[in-house]
Amino acid sequence: MTYIYVMRVLLIILDGVADRPSLKIGLMTPLQLARKPTFDLLAAGGVTGIMDPVSPGVPVGSDTGHLALLGYDPYVYYTGRGPLEALGAGIELGPMDVAFRCNFATVSDDWVVIDRRAGRISDEEAELLASTLADLSKELSLDAELVFKHTVEHRGVLVIRGAGLSEKISDVDPHREGVKVQMPRPLDSSDNARRTSEVLRNFLVKSREILEKHPVNIERKKRGLKVANVLLPRGAGRLPSLPSIKERYGVKGAVIAGGAIYKGVCRAAGMDVINAPGATGTINTNLDSKFSTMIEALCNYDFVLLHIKGTDSASHDKNPELKARFIEKIDSALGKYLEKFLDDVIICITGDHTTCSTVGEHRGDPVPILIHGKGVRIDDVNKFDEISCSKGGLGRIRGLDLLNILFDLANITKMYGE
Ligand code: ZN
Ligand code: ZN
Repeated sequence: MTYIYVMRVLLIILDGVADRPSLKIGLMTPLQLARKPTFDLLAAGGVTGIMDPVSPGVPVGSDTGHLALLGYDPYVYYTGRGPLEALGAGIELGPMDVAFRCNFATVSDDWVVIDRRAGRISDEEAELLASTLADLSKELSLDAELVFKHTVEHRGVLVIRGAGLSEKISDVDPHREGVKVQMPRPLDSSDNARRTSEVLRNFLVKSREILEKHPVNIERKKRGLKVANVLLPRGAGRLPSLPSIKERYGVKGAVIAGGAIYKGVCRAAGMDVINAPGATGTINTNLDSKFSTMIEALCNYDFVLLHIKGTDSASHDKNPELKARFIEKIDSALGKYLEKFLDDVIICITGDHTTCSTVGEHRGDPVPILIHGKGVRIDDVNKFDEISCSKGGLGRIRGLDLLNILFDLANITKMYGE
């Protein structure tokens, strides 16, 4: 019998790391500007390329982008952001439950949205508000159960549970400020959609009454801060049914991430969620804690996905300089751990989409990718950025093919045919 050397796979996703050249930083991209010896070392000793997360020129969200990178065609499997967020928030979601993403927001007396982030309410305050809403469905004697859970900052998830529900419900969140909240409407003519929109409307009206009188908001008003007096649900959907990573590749996978959506996509794919202390999903996240948790996870799992969010946030804030500095921080934090796992791990570093820090939004440009590990064909590229990697040996690949490529390099994938 021949001995096959099976390696583990580490996928590091830097959210929205890819960018376009920016005038603010001398027509470079943040990856080009950043001093990043670790990433460049890995690029020099590995193979590089560019990747279209879903399709060339299609700007994707973090949800659809991550689904694609895990090998799930979002055009087939995506059922909305709500259920993925709910899974990521640790809610056990049944197949018939309808889940929404939610924001605490500030509205005027006549329901005009003043601030979609409720004056950047703190985690502690949002947690207190959320706990008051916990038993609201019983109080309202609705024949559906409503579960609201706060996640980070002004964000949370809402799940409606019961018989005869539908996910065909319009967004309540108008997605901008200065306009009225849109009360939920059924999006088809079914009784279930009508009923679900009524349940949600009752909940919104009642929860507003409670939030207006809540001590947290009374205190905020006194301090001249915006109150969190309404919940704005959006992205209604049901649990997607994904064949697990274990079923597809026979591997045991885990994710380390701060934000709920990344944990949710991975949970839907049958992966375990590992919480790293101090992982906040912001630019102030504890990178050391994330990398040391990652090293530990590599001892127990065949496949580990580490997600870092701050690169995307800096781009949304149109701050390419800050993005470059954050890339440098990640690079130096990773550098300290390199020798601990380089020998028997296939490591891949890439992004889930381009986030353009000039327009502050996701764009459809491809993302750079590098793969490093034993047996990987080494190309001539020695820098990790959008332009250098476009000359790499991987060429231009699809996000959907990423795990196939990585598990093949790790000698995990079984042969197709005989
Ligand atoms: Zn993203
Ligand atoms: Zn983004």
